[in-house]
Amino acid sequence: MIAVLKPSVSLRDKAQLVSLIEARGLRVHLDKSGGEEWVGVLGEELPGFARELAAHPAVAEIRATSVPYALASRAYRAESSVVRVGSFVFGGAEAIVMAGPCAVENEAQIFATARAVAAAGARILRGGAFKPRTSPYSFQGLGEEGLELMAAAGRAHGLPIVTEVVAPEDVALVAKHADVLQIGARNMQNFRLLSAVGECERPVLLKRGLVATLEELLLAAEYVLAAGNPDVILCERGIRTFVRETRNTLDLAAIPLLKQKSHLPVVADPSHGTGVRALVPPLAKAALAAGADGLLIEVHPDPATALSDGPQSLTFAGFAQLMDELRVLAPALGREMHRVRP
Ligand code: PEP
Ligand code: MN
Repeated sequence: MIAVLKPSVSLRDKAQLVSLIEARGLRVHLDKSGGEEWVGVLGEELPGFARELAAHPAVAEIRATSVPYALASRAYRAESSVVRVGSFVFGGAEAIVMAGPCAVENEAQIFATARAVAAAGARILRGGAFKPRTSPYSFQGLGEEGLELMAAAGRAHGLPIVTEVVAPEDVALVAKHADVLQIGARNMQNFRLLSAVGECERPVLLKRGLVATLEELLLAAEYVLAAGNPDVILCERGIRTFVRETRNTLDLAAIPLLKQKSHLPVVADPSHGTGVRALVPPLAKAALAAGADGLLIEVHPDPATALSDGPQSLTFAGFAQLMDELRVLAPALGREMHRVRP
């Protein structure tokens, strides 16, 4: 539930309200926006407690939240949240494109990709250094060396970087190099990892699990928010269905649904969402039309030789063409797209 505070609330009354809530074993989350200040009351409430709080001198109004992900919900925060990454804003007018290889493979590969995606208008460089692979025999990523290479490539081309963190003990190391921490689909319900990135001062790109409902995705976001990190970007990256022709089924309806249910920005990943290069451009456009605040797209200098996800990776030319097409489409959808550098 949410206890909206009176505009004239005294510090003493506010402190007393917080103590009253905590004494019931509930957690308190103080917040404000749009001229309102409120207390999120987190945890399982006993019957009658809402009435008790409504009578407190600090409280103007009690709002019930009917969903279990209180902090991520629109009931908690009616205004859409924005997440800032350097000078770029997720959840604003601009659709932010993150692009790069599935995995950082070597210096030449990541520098060439950074240059190509920056020139085509991407805002953020993506790439995996710690790769969660289905098989233990597949390329697992370059680890710290990969982080260093990607950070250097991003700096050289003015792009912040987003990369996956797979273990709580790696969060500090990845955060040292990365501007955004990615939680991959396979780790969406790794609750210790979610809490660890929640304690970190880096925005989090949270990918939907392969078989996760939207409520489970939002509860995963809640772990990050409840640990104190307000900067969560949700990512629809396809779910597992009976369809064999695609690697996953990009759930386009999830994009407007998540935006209805939550104030958090939502992006889409048509690369993992389809697994098929030729399907990435049409699904990227569809995701933008469905209201996505940004896109995550895999790009490789030579997809045929990629160490992971070659079949879904765009070539540099393919990515540049997609960006040109998105720039034509975006204004019709009320979106801005970054112009290519001269
Ligand atoms: C990735 O972004 O490279 C990745 C592994 O994605 P997902 O977790 O969505 O499979
Ligand atoms: Mn990949």
